[in-house]
Amino acid sequence: MIDPVILFTLFVFGISIGSFLNVVIFRLPKNMSLFFPGSHCFSCKTPVRFRDNIPVLGYFILKGKCRSCESTFSSRYALVELFSGLITCVLFALYGFSQYFFIYSFLTYALIAITFIDLDHFIIPNGFIILGLISIMIIYYFDFTPIHWEDGATGALIFGGFLFFLGVFGEFILRKESIGFGDVKLGLVLGGLIGIKYSILALYLSFFSAGIAIIILMAFKKLNTVSGQIPFGPYISAGTLLTILTSTPNGDNIIIDWYLRTMF
Ligand SMILES: [Zn+2]
Repeated sequence: MIDPVILFTLFVFGISIGSFLNVVIFRLPKNMSLFFPGSHCFSCKTPVRFRDNIPVLGYFILKGKCRSCESTFSSRYALVELFSGLITCVLFALYGFSQYFFIYSFLTYALIAITFIDLDHFIIPNGFIILGLISIMIIYYFDFTPIHWEDGATGALIFGGFLFFLGVFGEFILRKESIGFGDVKLGLVLGGLIGIKYSILALYLSFFSAGIAIIILMAFKKLNTVSGQIPFGPYISAGTLLTILTSTPNGDNIIIDWYLRTMF
């Protein structure tokens, strides 16, 4: 049983990170400072008061509206905060206070930001790739992972390489860019971090979640068939997160185990 005080503390920490991620998602692609100025209304530029700026709660206190001009804030801000808080608690429940908890939490926060920036702007900023490469060097140098560096290097080639060939193939068939180079770079970093076995699973789950999302978007007629552009970063992120959430600290994975039991 996890101490509720620890869980609550982690939740508060997670939603605060989510609040910062909202700033990153909005400002990073526009090359704006992440720290100045503070949060303000996009319509009337009135700064958000300290007590209205509490993650998740602030949205409900303000009822999703600016106190001065009543223009509405997107509920997405509160959802990003809530998701960041919940996922921090789930990762703690799965991995305890181990290095995996810190590595996977940090990774998940980055993937949340990547997902929404890619949805908004169809780009994955290079800053994330550089941050990822530095993190990988630190993780392997200090042996924070059970994965051997050769396993990581092969994972990077599988994850990034598969997306690269699919991108080339897709461009040849569709005569337009399908999987961008940003996705390939993200695949390289993720593959390097999680190794061969998890890279293959993460790729499967990426395409699986993309398939489900396309069906849902088509059902609700939300798929923009004119541009037909679908950012793939969110599905790579979802596939990787699902892989982490179904794995155990000793390197097993429930989906892979289930598959092997059922098929062989
Ligand atoms: Zn306002």
